[in-house]
Amino acid sequence: MNNTIDFQETSLQNTGKEMYDLITELFPICRSITGNGVRDTLDIIRNHIPLEIHEIPSGTNVFDWTVPKEWNIKDGYVKNSNGEKIIDFKKTNLHVLNYSMPINKKVSLKELKEHIFTLPEYPKSIPYRTSYYEENWGFCMTYEEFDKLTDDEYEVVVSSTLENGHLTFGEYFLKGETDDEILLSCYVCHPSMANDNCSGIALLTFLAKYLSKKKLKYSYRFLFIPETIGAITWLYLNEKNVKKIQCGLVATCLGDRGHLTYKKTRNDNTIIDKIVEEVLEESNEKYEIVDFFPYGSNERQFSSPGFNLFIGSLARTLYARFPEYHTSADNLDFVDSEHLHDSFEKYVKIISKLEDACFEEEQSVQNKKNENTDANENNLIFKTIIQKCEPNLGKRGLYDKIGGVPADPSNVLTPDDKISLFWVLNFCDGKNNLLDISKRSKIKIENIKRASEILMKKGLIEKI
Ligand code: ZN
Repeated sequence: MNNTIDFQETSLQNTGKEMYDLITELFPICRSITGNGVRDTLDIIRNHIPLEIHEIPSGTNVFDWTVPKEWNIKDGYVKNSNGEKIIDFKKTNLHVLNYSMPINKKVSLKELKEHIFTLPEYPKSIPYRTSYYEENWGFCMTYEEFDKLTDDEYEVVVSSTLENGHLTFGEYFLKGETDDEILLSCYVCHPSMANDNCSGIALLTFLAKYLSKKKLKYSYRFLFIPETIGAITWLYLNEKNVKKIQCGLVATCLGDRGHLTYKKTRNDNTIIDKIVEEVLEESNEKYEIVDFFPYGSNERQFSSPGFNLFIGSLARTLYARFPEYHTSADNLDFVDSEHLHDSFEKYVKIISKLEDACFEEEQSVQNKKNENTDANENNLIFKTIIQKCEPNLGKRGLYDKIGGVPADPSNVLTPDDKISLFWVLNFCDGKNNLLDISKRSKIKIENIKRASEILMKKGLIEKI
């Protein structure tokens, strides 16, 4: 144990409660990938740590992506012909489709229904849905309420703006004795959801605050960024310095009552993988380790073949694995200070072990040799044309228009196809052949081949 970090010190006893209080403060804010919700969130974090705020203009090209227009919202509702508000943004911001364009008109029940999202399998929950890259308007409501809608003329109002502005993110850098960096990131783009995003923000805020008082061997970089486009933008702006990053973690879903789950790095057995496993093993509590998969949160950008950073993710119940995920049931009752505290302690233990680690010994990245010698087309090796971050699949018609849905079937591709696309894109690094990718992803070779054909047609991969 490094003597500069002691997770049992009395100043930490209240951290779980402080994290919960911060989540309570952040929870009501209507966040999105851009806009004042992110700024308000970062302002609150600045009460604890001196975050540096960055503003990147809409229209900036970042690798294969473009920073979108900025979205802000004041109000949104649906009124029936009696003038009663049957959907009201002021009750919960989840009621309005995130990134909904402004609208103010009267519609029939039929038209209204085309713009409403529900969750029939969880009829009491309001879903969280987004439409970042496709201009659309819409509302989300419980299936129970949706089921009661009658034939009527409805007034639909969304008072939002979608204009050229900025993408905002926050960064906090703690300089240690060496330039070697540990990257700790969370995302700040989800609206009122306590576990999926607010818990990660709270954990990194208090971890940064705690470490800022310590003498550190390594340097620590904390990122508070929107998912996907935020990570891509940050990587674009910091491309030259990325080589200083030795390893890191994405902090998410850390306040629920489930056991801890660690999603490994793309390279499987790096120092961060070993340390996290050690901390979990030493806890004598139940835990789970899952292999890297190239979808999920920002680890997939950090781990794109062109960067291949050693970034894992330590969560409690992993995103998309709990029924409250991306719904109004991921609320302040779904998280508690005891579990937040436990997650915090685990992160501190990990940092403590990292401070004792030596990265030079770990520099040899496994250059896996291709062991398949069968002479058939499964042996074909491809290379992703865009190696740095994910290509933008949405603009090529390969991604859902409405976001926030876990593994939703789309018109164009089966869910298997979509997952296969991510695997092929991430692992076509010139070393793995299709069979290697099939084995690693546990996806049938037929699906991997189909994904490679789709990506070839779109010019996203090439044979080598
Ligand atoms: Zn999420």
